[in-house]
Amino acid sequence: MRIFKTFLLWELLKGLCLTGRYLFARKITVQYPEESAPKSVRHRGLHALRRYPNGEERCIACKLCEAVCPALAITIESEPREDGSRRTTKYEIDLFKCIYCGFCEESCPVDSIVETGITDYHFENRGDQIMTKQQLLAIGDKYEADIARDRAEDAKYR
Ligand code: SF4
Ligand code: SF4
Repeated sequence: MRIFKTFLLWELLKGLCLTGRYLFARKITVQYPEESAPKSVRHRGLHALRRYPNGEERCIACKLCEAVCPALAITIESEPREDGSRRTTKYEIDLFKCIYCGFCEESCPVDSIVETGITDYHFENRGDQIMTKQQLLAIGDKYEADIARDRAEDAKYR
């Protein structure tokens, strides 16, 4: 039997059959970056700081996210404002240290720091990986509608 299979190039025929089957099957290759695969609403991508609808930043500088971050990627400095409320004067995330664990957003009591669905970003200069408060707020402002929709969707499964 083995000699028979060797004579007929049985393994080669099996391989060609497999190739032929996939040749006509539906193609599932995603043409990135023109196309992208669907992402979960819980996807942990680029961070953002959110505001309330009246424009006030949500963050109350409690530093829970800084304390819980296992990669020590978050640096916060804060001081009281004139109205007595406490706000950050510095909020930075080093994305080279970040492991995208999501602990920061889970620890935040006011839903301020979140991880968005944004996965496509890059850095061109040394130091660009450190996201400043202004950059994080700008991302939050730009994608607030998407963030709010994803969090509402996520809440249904909690
Ligand atoms: S996702 Fe995790 S590692 Fe990254 S900043 Fe948040 S807590 Fe730190
Ligand atoms: S982002 Fe949230 S957890 Fe972090 S300091 Fe601000 S309020 Fe606290």
